[in-house]
Amino acid sequence: MSTQSFAPPASVSIWDAAHAADARRPRSRQRQLGASDTICSRRAGYILHGVERTHSPDMRAAILGTYIHQGLLEDARREYGWLVERTVTDEVLRGHIDIVQLDAATAARLPKRHRPVQPADVVTVEDVKTKSGRIWDRVVRYGPTAAEMRQVLLYADLLRTVGFADVPGQRYLHRLGPIDVQHIRFRFVCRDTGEEHVQEFAFDPWLATEARWWVDRVLEAPTPEDLPRDHDGPGLSVICDNCAFRGTCWPGVPPGMPAQTILVHDDADRAQALADYVRGHEMYREGKRLKEKARAMLADSPEGRYGDNELGWSGGNPKQEVDVAAMVEQFEDADLVVPMLPDAEAMVEVLRRAGMTVPMRKAAGQRTPRSIKVSPARPTA
Ligand code: SF4
Repeated sequence: MSTQSFAPPASVSIWDAAHAADARRPRSRQRQLGASDTICSRRAGYILHGVERTHSPDMRAAILGTYIHQGLLEDARREYGWLVERTVTDEVLRGHIDIVQLDAATAARLPKRHRPVQPADVVTVEDVKTKSGRIWDRVVRYGPTAAEMRQVLLYADLLRTVGFADVPGQRYLHRLGPIDVQHIRFRFVCRDTGEEHVQEFAFDPWLATEARWWVDRVLEAPTPEDLPRDHDGPGLSVICDNCAFRGTCWPGVPPGMPAQTILVHDDADRAQALADYVRGHEMYREGKRLKEKARAMLADSPEGRYGDNELGWSGGNPKQEVDVAAMVEQFEDADLVVPMLPDAEAMVEVLRRAGMTVPMRKAAGQRTPRSIKVSPARPTA
C-alpha cells in the first residue's frame, strides 16, 4: 500500500476572486472616460490614448465600496422604484448615473409599469458615494471634490443633451429623448458607521460647460504628456499612489529618490521650489498661530455645537502611575524577592514577564493632556 501524503491546499485569498470579477466589469476595461477618470487630466489622457497601465492599484477599498453601492441601489430600486445605474454615453464619455428621479410630467410619458412610486418635484440626478470614516468629517464639511462634481455634471449634461443611452434594458428610457435635469444630489454614506449625508445643488449649465471644456482640453492634447499632472505624485498623493499609470507618468526616478525630483530640470525650477517652500512655511506659521490662539480661547468652553462646528474634548482624565507599595505587596504574596530599594521599572518588568497585572493608582493632582476635537456640526434631526 502506498503512503501518499497530501499537502493542504495552498490558501487562497478571497480577494483574488473579487479582483478577477472587478477586472471584468466594463468600467475596468473601457477606453471612454469613466467614473474615476476625470480625477486627473493626465490620467484621462492616458486612457483616451490607450496607454498601457504600469501598475495594478490596490482596489480592495473600491471593491468594498462597489458592493455596498450595489446593495443600496438595488434596494432603493425595489422599494422606491427609483431608476438606478442607468447608462449615459456619447463618443467620449460613458458612465452610469446612480439614481435618476423623474418628475411627474416625464414619468407620465413612460409605460405605466415603469413609472416611479413617487415622482420628484424636478428631474434629479443623484450620485451615491461611499466614503471611509477616516475622511468623513472632511466629506461632511466640504462635500464633493471638484472631480466628483465634474463627473456628475458631465453625466447630467449627457442626460440633458443625449438622453438615456440606447442600450438593452433601458430602451423605454431612451425613447424619452433628452431629459431636463434640474437638480443634482450627492448622497454620501460612511463605510464604517453607515452615516448618511446629503448635499443638493441646482443644475448649473455654466458649470456643466466648464466640465465639458475640461474634457475637450483632454481630447485636444496631442499626447498625454501635454496634459498637466493634477496631483502631487506618488508618496504625496493617494490618488497617484493608486494610479495605474504612475510608472508612465513619473518616469526615470533615480533609485531611492522621491518621484518629484524629476520635476526639477534647472536652477529656475530649484528657485521656484524654494519659493514654494518659503511660502508654504509662512502659511503653516500663520495657520499654527491662528489655531493656537483659538485653542487657548476655547480652553474652558463646554462641549457643544457652535455655528458650523461641533466642539469636543478628549483626555483631561486623572493620570495613572505605578503603585509601588501595592507592587511590593504583590511581590511578597508571590514570594518574589523585593529589592532593598524598590526599583519600580525593574519590578514592572518582572510582573509583566510573569503575566501579572501592574497595580496602578491615580497620580495626585495630575491629569492627562486635554485634546480639542473640532468636527462639522451634523444637521439636527
Ligand atoms: S500618477 Fe497622478 S498625476 Fe500621474 S496620471 Fe496618475 S493621478 Fe495623474
